[in-house]
Amino acid sequence: MTHTTHAGSKMRHKPRDYAQTPLNIYWEMTQACALACRHCRAEAMPQPHPWQLSHEEGVSLIHQILEFGDPLPQLILTGGDPLSRPDLFELIDIATDLGISVSITPSATPTLTYETMVRLKEHGVQGLGLSLDGPNAKNHDAIRGIDGCFDLTMQAIRWAGELDLPLQINTLVAAETAVDLPATYELLKQHKVMRWGLFFLISVGRGRVLQPLSPEASEDLMHWVYDTAKDAPFVVATTEAPSYRRVALDRMRDEGMTPEQIRRSPAYRGFNIRDGNGIMFISNTGDICPAGFLPLTAGNVRKDRVTDVYRNSAVFRSLHNPNEFKGKCGVCEHRVICGGSRSRAFTSTGDSLESDPLCSYEPQRNI
Ligand code: SF4
Repeated sequence: MTHTTHAGSKMRHKPRDYAQTPLNIYWEMTQACALACRHCRAEAMPQPHPWQLSHEEGVSLIHQILEFGDPLPQLILTGGDPLSRPDLFELIDIATDLGISVSITPSATPTLTYETMVRLKEHGVQGLGLSLDGPNAKNHDAIRGIDGCFDLTMQAIRWAGELDLPLQINTLVAAETAVDLPATYELLKQHKVMRWGLFFLISVGRGRVLQPLSPEASEDLMHWVYDTAKDAPFVVATTEAPSYRRVALDRMRDEGMTPEQIRRSPAYRGFNIRDGNGIMFISNTGDICPAGFLPLTAGNVRKDRVTDVYRNSAVFRSLHNPNEFKGKCGVCEHRVICGGSRSRAFTSTGDSLESDPLCSYEPQRNI
């Protein structure tokens, strides 16, 4: 998950320096999950990891977030299935009492009941993220690895609408799923959705069994996303496909939009954010990483301060500075607003500073 503003986001007007403070901190509260999704980053298991952060360590992590100061990052509780943690609501209360905005991405299992969603709302959760990878049970359940997941997801989507819980739908974009996107969009239009996040596959974890889109197909799809976003009743955004910002910027300029109009566009809000710059990920065992799909461990919350690791570790500092990127991304005139997916660069080359192979753009400056 990213990277873009999450479902629970409220526009903050104080400018944020992403080299100092992330917008979103994703905490993988547990690896435990009843689903077996084909693209699972966490390779989730039915049971929690034996070294999973304890309740006290989770509380300590939440308090550390305050050290970032104003504006505080948002905390996004993910997994595995965060609902499988017995201390979930206690941890939500601690974070919200400290003034931290909390969102959550539960798994669509029978645990996600109407009563649970009411409790999430009552405990101050600002946003709910659900995955919908196809417009029907056959296609979605094939990706999620369990029959009935589609129906549970659609039920949760309806309940979120009834409860007025801001909802982000995340949809996997892979060669196998891209054809379904127009139908999924039509389905989502019938519901109360705040944001639709299109996650372009990173082939890690179980995701290796799916095929990424080619750079050419991705480029075509990004133009479809731009056209769709113009009329959509919700924000349409991409995750792990920051070169969409280049496409959107070109299209907006071609349409004669002024710099001020571009600055006010939904696409602009994600500019500059990428893995490790605006994004931080804490694993279920406390490892501090630039993103969930970028398993470069820069520290661990059991012994390091998250602020110090985010601001000063070599891993994060290199990701803050697009001038350190290599290949096309290092010379591209769009490297500040885009910079490419650092996760995909790492997955495909072993170097998080290399170029994003999803992008077909040829920068105007030669390498
Ligand atoms: S070459 Fe890299 S920085 Fe430039 S648009 Fe493509 S992904 Fe973004």
